[in-house]
Amino acid sequence: MTAISATNAGQGSPDTRPRDVSAANAALSIAGVSHAYGARRALIDVSFAVAPASFTALLGLNGAGKTTLFALITRLFGIQAGHIGIFGNDVGRAPGEALRLLGVVFQSRTLDLDLSVTQNLLYHAALHGIARREARLRSDDVLTRIGLADRAGSKVRDLSGGQMRRLEIARALLHRPRLLLLDEATVGLDVKARADILHHVRQLVSEQGIGVLWATHLFDEIAPGDDLVVLHQGRVLGYGPAQNIIAEAGARDINSAFMRLTGAAVEPGGPVP
Ligand code: ATP
Repeated sequence: MTAISATNAGQGSPDTRPRDVSAANAALSIAGVSHAYGARRALIDVSFAVAPASFTALLGLNGAGKTTLFALITRLFGIQAGHIGIFGNDVGRAPGEALRLLGVVFQSRTLDLDLSVTQNLLYHAALHGIARREARLRSDDVLTRIGLADRAGSKVRDLSGGQMRRLEIARALLHRPRLLLLDEATVGLDVKARADILHHVRQLVSEQGIGVLWATHLFDEIAPGDDLVVLHQGRVLGYGPAQNIIAEAGARDINSAFMRLTGAAVEPGGPVP
């Protein structure tokens, strides 16, 4: 059984403690994953794990490789090197069971604006083969969980950007996944909508026991107790609890820790790509 340890992190990782997340019991395990688009290397020997019922932030600038990693986890691309497991199911060898346990919110929006909130959910449930009656029950349940129950009958076109994002999260929960991936879920939203979404996603972790991988380039979305993966130009430069990464970099906060690890210029709120 492979244990994903911080020593697997890319060159220059300041975190050398072994972590107690084996590939078999991790919600998500990424082990030695590399990916290239022709000659361009997008991911280089990336390893980390997301524990069940935990929130892991994947922090990186535009072009760090976050979306490529999501495409590999969701099997949009074939795995060129390394292994990806979801609750011990190898994504390459047992994709059916692995993907059944996975919910995804992609960077770009994919809602039907002319359908109602519930209609969007029922349509998606049908694609998953969920019977109509059960789909209605689940729709009501996920809308309540994400704080959208009062908008069930609204046309999606009439929702705010933040509400649309929450609907996408609700939709990703319909088939009851145990691992949720979110790729820059708060992009383009105002401060309040961002905070609302983060609050709801953190609640899914603490109350529903869902493991979350949260890709972002915004420092203020990361809490000191979160697990953090710093991805830069395709390599993992830091991996571990955020507060440890800050301490080990000799920094006072995430902003300066990120700058020390990557050498990137940083502005308040987020790195400059
Ligand atoms: P962003 O938030 O801007 O999408 P990211 O961290 O998700 O950034 P990726 O989109 O995974 O990063 O990109 C990683 C690297 O791979 C970049 O150098 C990018 O230019 C390159 N890349 C991504 N997709 C392709 C593709 N289809 N063909 C060639 N190169 C690509």
